[in-house]
Amino acid sequence: MSTVDLRSDTVTRPTAAMRQAMLHAEVGDDVYGEDPTVNALQRRLADDLGFEAGLFVPTGTQSNLLALMSHCERGDEYLVGADAHTYKYEGGGAAVLGSIQPQPIAHDVDGSLPLDKLAAAIKMVDPHFARTRLLALENTWHGRALPLGYLQAAHDFARERGLGIHLDGARVFNAAEASAVPVREITRHFDSVSVCLSKGLGAPVGSVLLGSAALIDKARRWRKVAGGGWRQAGMLAAAGQYALDHHVQRLADDHRRAADLAARLGEIDTLSVLGQYSNMVFVDVPAARLRALDVHLRAAGIRISIGYLPTLRLVTHLDIDDEGIERTVAAFRSFFAGRL
Ligand SMILES: *Cc1c(COP(=O)(O)O)cnc(C)c1O
Repeated sequence: MSTVDLRSDTVTRPTAAMRQAMLHAEVGDDVYGEDPTVNALQRRLADDLGFEAGLFVPTGTQSNLLALMSHCERGDEYLVGADAHTYKYEGGGAAVLGSIQPQPIAHDVDGSLPLDKLAAAIKMVDPHFARTRLLALENTWHGRALPLGYLQAAHDFARERGLGIHLDGARVFNAAEASAVPVREITRHFDSVSVCLSKGLGAPVGSVLLGSAALIDKARRWRKVAGGGWRQAGMLAAAGQYALDHHVQRLADDHRRAADLAARLGEIDTLSVLGQYSNMVFVDVPAARLRALDVHLRAAGIRISIGYLPTLRLVTHLDIDDEGIERTVAAFRSFFAGRL
């Protein structure tokens, strides 16, 4: 029995065909800029998403960090969501390693950062204050695709205020799918975008930072400083190329399965389905029963993360098929029917 792992879309394993692509990748030393597969991946994503240049890096955390350090200098500040990955889930890297001050802003329910709150947070030019330089958004945010109208407004706001604008687009292809637009309709509003290949796209490792040639030059230097200057990384870039060729269209299947899961869990009285956004389903479970639910599901070969109590976040991805959804619904039903 295969495991249905709903904890995250980071848990996917490379498919046999992806492994073949990795095996046959041409490689070179990427610190010298000589890995043809890395170069091709960077070029291709830059062209597809509308940027001058790209930089392949090990993780989304490093990609965001390099972006922040390339937009901002020591003593600068970035405006960021209080529940954004780049603020809350990256170990404070911008402050720790970049001497960049975060200015967190409370999100609206749709994940956007209200422009009036952003405006109020911008500091005057005065020696008392950090210099506000950058606005960082996240899309999707907890599965939610930011409204396209908001992206335009945020872009115009950043331009008017002389701020750079960065997107943590770890799941930007999910956002494009959920918004039913080409991904460029999202990325065109930003000066830089970080894209994860290792989430729903199913590559084992890797993110790409996109931006102007000048910004990516700076980011390349910071990547080396951060210890991220890797060598024959083409085998990993080949996995990324394969993912872009074969795993973008199918994100629609993940979203459909998440919707299916949400609808069917919603029929269970004891559960309260809070919402389904792209490949994520949020469900409230009576806190007292969570641990027992986890044990029950594990016995049925289903993994959930109970870290965000009492709300469960269930994530669909490449390694979860219709049968996996069936099995999950059946296991939830049998648990809440009391047949333990
Ligand atoms: C996963 C993720 C990242 C980067 O994560 P890594 O594990 O460092 O690759 C960044 N932003 C968001 C929103 C993410 O979900």
